[in-house]
Formats: sequence, structure tokens, C-alpha cells
Amino acid sequence: MFDGFSRKIDYLRLSVTDKCNFFCMYCRTKDFCSESSGQLSRDEIFRIISAFKKLGIQKLRITGGEPFLRDDIFEIIEFANKIGIENINITTNGWLDSEKIRKIIKSPLKSINISLDTLDREKYKLVTGIDGLDKVLKTVEELKKHKNVKINTVLIRSVNLDEIEDLISFAKKNNIIIRFIELMPIGVANQIFKDEFVSKDDVIKRFEGIKEIDIVEVSAAKYYYIEDFDYMVGFISSVSDHFCKTCNKVRVSSTGVLYNCLFDKSGLKLRDFLHDEVLLLKKIEDFVKKKKLIRSLESDMPMFRIGG
Ligand code: SAM
Ligand code: SF4
Repeated sequence: MFDGFSRKIDYLRLSVTDKCNFFCMYCRTKDFCSESSGQLSRDEIFRIISAFKKLGIQKLRITGGEPFLRDDIFEIIEFANKIGIENINITTNGWLDSEKIRKIIKSPLKSINISLDTLDREKYKLVTGIDGLDKVLKTVEELKKHKNVKINTVLIRSVNLDEIEDLISFAKKNNIIIRFIELMPIGVANQIFKDEFVSKDDVIKRFEGIKEIDIVEVSAAKYYYIEDFDYMVGFISSVSDHFCKTCNKVRVSSTGVLYNCLFDKSGLKLRDFLHDEVLLLKKIEDFVKKKKLIRSLESDMPMFRIGG
């Protein structure tokens, strides 16, 4: 499907839950983690995925909250695969037991993005509220042997500005891609944004031999080659830059609201139309036509509900 500016919209980010077992300082702190509310059921998710497939979605990223907290997560992945979505991906905090890891390896998932902001156990506890570093490192170790694993690292001044080199070395040693994500002023992150924000340029200027490289990837990441490391790193610099001109995605929140942009304040409540597929397709198409050309940069939406 196309929006009003002839951008082809073929990427859906679907938040399947607002539940999470972590308390990340920029997403869902203990003071900012309302009870899960109105989460989509499995059947509602099936209808939504089917509708978007009919409208030409080719890439699906499942996110949350923590998507692997859903008992039916592998059924959802299988369903998307069965109806012909080939490019199915997931984002997780990586707090996974060995049974889930085995199932992921067997699943049709094309890639798994694992959030990892620090390699220091104490800092990891500080960022996530959980003593989980060893478990998450084990997940990376196991999954990278079988699947395309990427690391997502949110840049946080007091936490990891002094760890950039170590994180790049970690990625290189494991032969996986790392993407540094600029902290976005969304939800609870508004409270720490001013003190903790680090821009892509703050990181780039640390390296002398750094060059932007062209990578054909349907994503908002820009990739750079760093000579000192003889390795490539990605940046998702949603604050410093915007990728609106080539944006190909829409988002559905864990409560079934369609948003044309992460920063939009209003969305389309898909639940009102799930009973009638013809109407649902029409409503989605009409809504996507109204996708704005440029994003704003402020939002109160909890990240754990819209999914990042
Ligand atoms: N629970 C999973 C996880 O943490 O990977 C998936 C959901 S999480 C909301 C998706 C991504 O959003 C994670 O990589 C997380 O680090 C990122 N994120 C959350 N809040 C953010 C913020 N305020 N700014 C930038 N990235 C954020
Ligand atoms: Fe949970 Fe992911 Fe948000 Fe952390 S970033 S609180 S793991 S949803």
C-alpha cells in the first residue's frame, strides 16, 4: 500500500504485549509501568497480520513489551509465516530460557534483535532493574550460532559512553552487528533525556577513520566502517536525523491501535473493525494515506506499549 506521498508502506511493527519482566530506565521504570491493559488476543493478532499481508506488508517485526512473555508467541510467528510473510523478525531483551532458545532456532524468524546496553553486570542491573547480564549473554552466544542476531544498544551518557569501544569489540568478537540507538524522548525517557542523551555525532567524533557506508537494508539504521576496529557499526539516530522521506513502516500497539509514526499522538483503533475484513482493509488504507511527511519529536506514549 502507498501513503499520500507515494511512499510504499510494506513494513509493520507489531507490539504483541505491554507486559515486561524488565524495568529499563528509559522505557518502563517501576514508577512508570501501569498494569497491562487491553492486550490483543491471539485471534485479534491473526486478523491484524492477515489484513496487513493483504495490503502488501512484506516485513514484520514483532516487539513489545517483551514478546516472549506471551505463551502463544511461537503460534503468532508460525501464523505469519504460514500466510506468506517471509521476513519475520523479533526484538527481545534476551532473558530467555533454553526451551525458548531451542524454539527460536527452529522458528522461521529471520533475525533477532537483542537489547544490550552495557557489558558491566552492575550497570546492567541499574539500567534494567534485573541481574540479567549473564543470562542475556548466554542467549546471544546460543542464538548467534544459528540465527542472524543483532545487538541494540541505547546510548545513555552515564551508563555506556565509556563503553562504546568495548561494545564494538564485543560485537566484532562475536561477529554480530551492533546498532547504537539514540535515546528518544518518549514516555518516561522524557525525565532523563536532557542529562542522558548522546548523539550519533558524539560517538562518531571519537573515531578518526570512520566512514559512512551504503548497506542495502530496509531499516532506519545508518552504517559506518571504523578503521581502528576494522569493523562496521550501525546508528539509529532518530533524534539527530530523521528518515521520514523513505519511511516504509507503520506500527500497531499492544492494544491494537495503528500509528503511522512512533511520535504520532492519535491512531486508528483497529479493534472497532476486526469483525469485518473488507471494512478493516479500507480503514487501514485510508488511515495510512494520511501518514505525515515529517515526524514531530515528542511523545507520552509508553515505549512498552508501542514497541519502539
Ligand atoms: N522488550 C524488548 C527489548 O527490550 O528489546 C522489545 C521492546 S523494546 C520497547 C524495543 C526497543 O526499544 C529496545 O531495543 C529498547 O532498547 C528500545 N527503547 C525503549 N525505550 C527507548 C527510548 N526511550 N529511546 C530509544 N530506544 C528505546
Ligand atoms: Fe521491557 Fe524492552 Fe522496555 Fe526494557 S526496553 S522495559 S525490556 S519493553
